[in-house]
Amino acid sequence: MKQASTQYEKKIDARRQLPQFWLFDLDNTLYPADSDLFLQIDDRMGSYISKILKVDRREARVLQKSYYMKYGTTLSGLIQNHGIDADAYLDYVHEIDLSVIDPSPRLDELLKNLPGKKYIFTNGSVAHAENVMARLGISERFVGIQDIKASNYIPKPHPSAYSKIISRFEILPEMSIMLDDIPKNLLPAANLGITTVWVKNARWDSHNLEPHIDFVTENLAEWLGQIPRAVGGV
Ligand SMILES: [Mg+2]
Repeated sequence: MKQASTQYEKKIDARRQLPQFWLFDLDNTLYPADSDLFLQIDDRMGSYISKILKVDRREARVLQKSYYMKYGTTLSGLIQNHGIDADAYLDYVHEIDLSVIDPSPRLDELLKNLPGKKYIFTNGSVAHAENVMARLGISERFVGIQDIKASNYIPKPHPSAYSKIISRFEILPEMSIMLDDIPKNLLPAANLGITTVWVKNARWDSHNLEPHIDFVTENLAEWLGQIPRAVGGV
């Protein structure tokens, strides 16, 4: 873990309080990436493309990944190139088996004890966020969900997604912290003055720590658990 007790303390000292706004990514951040839940979504994206565009799975896979690379989400590419029904797509790809993730009373307790307003900031859908939160047992801890629809289907890390969540919930960036498993999603946040936490997993093992990342952890609950200690028992 990066030096939470030094750099973070400095930032918190400047504010003399914990963040008031917490922006949590959903997939592979609030639940462990090794549950492979996201692989199920990934697979459903492929089967949806195959079905709707009448191409074989191999071609569907190529399209899926090329749209993801070019547009930030596969969905954005499908909307812009094929005018697909976003809601139907989102419903389909999020029809997954959530039993691969375990309920987390510990995460619920940690979130409960953290002061400030908590939001989900995801490139997925509201329904998927609600399902995952319910499975983890943390639904009560969040006051808002910014999903891909609310971001006009323009995903993180496009700056417009960040402007949208900030204006919608009247978030003060300098009083905020954002947690995400994808390092590049934290860059626009850092540029706005938001403190950033990279919730690292095996997928990003070879990725280097970048200057826009304030903290890194491979265990969200553990990291959240040490925050009050790091800032002097708040
Ligand atoms: Mg994620």
